[in-house]
Amino acid sequence: MKAPRPAGNLAASVRAGARSALEILEEHLAAIESGDGAVHAFNLVTADQARGEARAVDRVVEAGDDPGLLAGVPVALKDNLCTRGVPTTCSSRILEGWRPPYDATVVTRLRKAGAVMVGKTNMDEFAMGSSTETSAFGATRNPHDTNRVPGGSSGGSAAAVAAGFAPLALGSDTGGSIRQPAALCGVVGMKPTYGAVSRYGLVAFASSLDQIGPFATTVADAALLFDVIGGHDARDSTSLNRPTPRALSVLEDGVAGLTVGILSEFLDGAAPDVVARTHQAAEALTRAGARVEEVSVPEVRLGLSAYYLIAPGEASSNLARYDGVRYGLRVEAEDTAAMNIATRSAGFGPEVKRRIMLGTYVLSAGYMDAYYNQALRVRTKIIEGFAAAYRTCDVLLGPTAPTTAFALGAKTDDPLTMYLSDVCTIPSNLAGHPAISVPFGAGDDGLPVGVQLLGPALSESTLFKVAAVVEAAAPALAAPSLVAGGRS
Ligand code: GLN
Repeated sequence: MKAPRPAGNLAASVRAGARSALEILEEHLAAIESGDGAVHAFNLVTADQARGEARAVDRVVEAGDDPGLLAGVPVALKDNLCTRGVPTTCSSRILEGWRPPYDATVVTRLRKAGAVMVGKTNMDEFAMGSSTETSAFGATRNPHDTNRVPGGSSGGSAAAVAAGFAPLALGSDTGGSIRQPAALCGVVGMKPTYGAVSRYGLVAFASSLDQIGPFATTVADAALLFDVIGGHDARDSTSLNRPTPRALSVLEDGVAGLTVGILSEFLDGAAPDVVARTHQAAEALTRAGARVEEVSVPEVRLGLSAYYLIAPGEASSNLARYDGVRYGLRVEAEDTAAMNIATRSAGFGPEVKRRIMLGTYVLSAGYMDAYYNQALRVRTKIIEGFAAAYRTCDVLLGPTAPTTAFALGAKTDDPLTMYLSDVCTIPSNLAGHPAISVPFGAGDDGLPVGVQLLGPALSESTLFKVAAVVEAAAPALAAPSLVAGGRS
């Protein structure tokens, strides 16, 4: 069976001259125009620039040349990806007015492949959050039920794809920010191996954990987007200089002979309906010829605690550059130090301030050994725990998030509860491993459930082909209704 690929088909029709890129773009701009008032997936829609890009693709086709693998496909970009001359805000006031002087490498690669960039998507401020509610520009809403969160931090990208505003989007994943919103919005989201996709032009949150990755409505389209953005980049010193695993070309290979481990620690804290869906996905893999067994990686239980020391530590250092001099906002005061303080006080929201303070504390001379260095040792333990599991398993299976989408405002007053949304996604970031979330039917409330596949470094080819089998077996999910309370 051929995996469905709506974005791939759009590109094929443009390359064949059957459809124009401009006409496809106009359809999507119309969908944004009518639907984004209720969803708020976008911080900025770059309609005119997109029309120019679409016309350029159409001219290439008319000239008889090949416009590329993503010819005429509208793509939404998370607003922490630098776009030359186009505001890039990280959904923070502190970047007000800043226009990057260059494009991120992923943006350059999309352009080369003929994609059309439709706009910048809303996110948790500086990607710190799990619900897109820490954005300085207001929350994004889940297209399946606009009283619920879309997840985060790449909630705008996930919602844009779920609502049909763009067939493809990019997000960033530091602790789950692609996979968790993908799960909550009923779309595919994937975090590549650390170093597989260039971070050049991604505004840094926690540099040892950040990765850019694809959102799509199907596994094949996510694979196509991964193939386009992956590969070595000399401009990112952490970019892997070795062949990137291919995704699209292996999709139909099946899972016969593979061993899949159900990760028991991920089932522990998850809601019963989410656990049931995970078991159902496992049964589908068994039917398709995989060997499925339960496996335990006890070290992953320490992931959340280690992450909330390492990520804030790195963030406190990365965000020191927003000083009122080099980027965006400046609040004038009597001298430079007072200006720095006034700018940062006004420019950062409460969650970002909390992370900077936490991070500064755990890196301070007196506490570094007790907190930050200890967290690094835990990180090594997690890597060793995964390595032991991958001696017997090709991939691991678990839920992506412990619950379906929660109500707006439900967790905003309790950061610790919010942090728990990422228990199942954080371990892959700490290990630098790839993982993918695949929609798998709905929970008891009718809202999307995502199941997650995890693999060792550079196992993307295996992950995508297992994901294609899971996708083919997934129970149907009703299309988003875009109305408040539409699903419950
Ligand atoms: N929700 C996690 C956090 O707040 C992960 C965010 C991310 O992956 N960018 O840090």
